[in-house]
Amino acid sequence: MIDYSGPTICERPYVSVDYAGIELVTLSQSNVDLFHYSRMAEAINAGQDLHSRIAARMLSTTYEDILARRKAKEKRAVDARQSAKPVNYGLGGGMGPPKLVFTAAKDGIRFCVLADGGVPCVCAGQVKDCFRCNGAGRYCGEKTTQWKGRDIVPTCVECLELAVKYKKLWLEEWEEMNDYFALISKLCDTDGFILSFGNGMKRDLTNDKNPFCSGSNHLFQNRAAQGAKRALYRITKEADTDRGSPLWDSHIAVFVHDENISEMPLARMPEAADRMALIMREEMQALCPDVRVDAEPAAMEFWYKGAETVRVDGVLQVWRPPCPGCRADGWQKACQSGCTQNYYPKLRVAIPKLLS
Ligand SMILES: [Zn+2]
Ligand SMILES: [Zn+2]
Ligand SMILES: [Zn+2]
Repeated sequence: MIDYSGPTICERPYVSVDYAGIELVTLSQSNVDLFHYSRMAEAINAGQDLHSRIAARMLSTTYEDILARRKAKEKRAVDARQSAKPVNYGLGGGMGPPKLVFTAAKDGIRFCVLADGGVPCVCAGQVKDCFRCNGAGRYCGEKTTQWKGRDIVPTCVECLELAVKYKKLWLEEWEEMNDYFALISKLCDTDGFILSFGNGMKRDLTNDKNPFCSGSNHLFQNRAAQGAKRALYRITKEADTDRGSPLWDSHIAVFVHDENISEMPLARMPEAADRMALIMREEMQALCPDVRVDAEPAAMEFWYKGAETVRVDGVLQVWRPPCPGCRADGWQKACQSGCTQNYYPKLRVAIPKLLS
């Protein structure tokens, strides 16, 4: 019995599966292949949070301390982890401090503000969507247009200093990256190309504007792309040709880098979603045998970036956004009494496992 109370009923929900931090997984695997070690791979395989590892360095403390302080929602620890995200995701591609500041800012992350610096804002943090400070109460201060003798876009001096520091401690934490960059640099100077892992494709670097960054990006982006496309091929083939598969009658609607969004018949959605995630893990794992690969499905009626994996007795459920009125969580709870929106008038019944 499936009870879809609420504003919409969808017979073919979307299921999204994306890999967890896949470029860091493929980067780690490339380092294991190249240098026979990777501190990042060790951390991933131990189930650690890579951003908290960097945050611990930023605050000169231990990983365990950061976890405890994050759990207690201590602002300083939460902010440090926010700053660590663009550092972990960006630096593997060989970017320098100015680009790191710029990239972080595009996601609304300003190092100086998160490190409790920045210039006090006229709004005093009272305006939630203040264009200067985004409600932080502080915004980036004095700007410079110079970096090591070349012109850069106006960049906050304090953010830049922090970026230099963060890059240094990132290279200390993931020490294999020193070997990685040295190798890429050498390949740019000598061969002018890189042989890809996996399919062995030759990547020419001689026509690139910035061969060092292209080369640095290549060894993890290409590997991730190969794994994701091998999975896409297998999922599509199975869904279109194998009547015995839970994926039969599902269709990939969107494929974005390392994420598949498929529409699936509701009745077999839980099995189909798990099957899709399994194939994605298997294909990527084949290319990354030494590093743990994670990919979990989330089902939804409309595409939501924030959709979560929701399970009842292990069976995947269709996630729903919180009610805009009372914030009741959308996939099972009913609206709180007195909610003006009454978005979810009734409790929902969990989807039972239909195939087995
Ligand atoms: Zn402000
Ligand atoms: Zn700043
Ligand atoms: Zn409500």
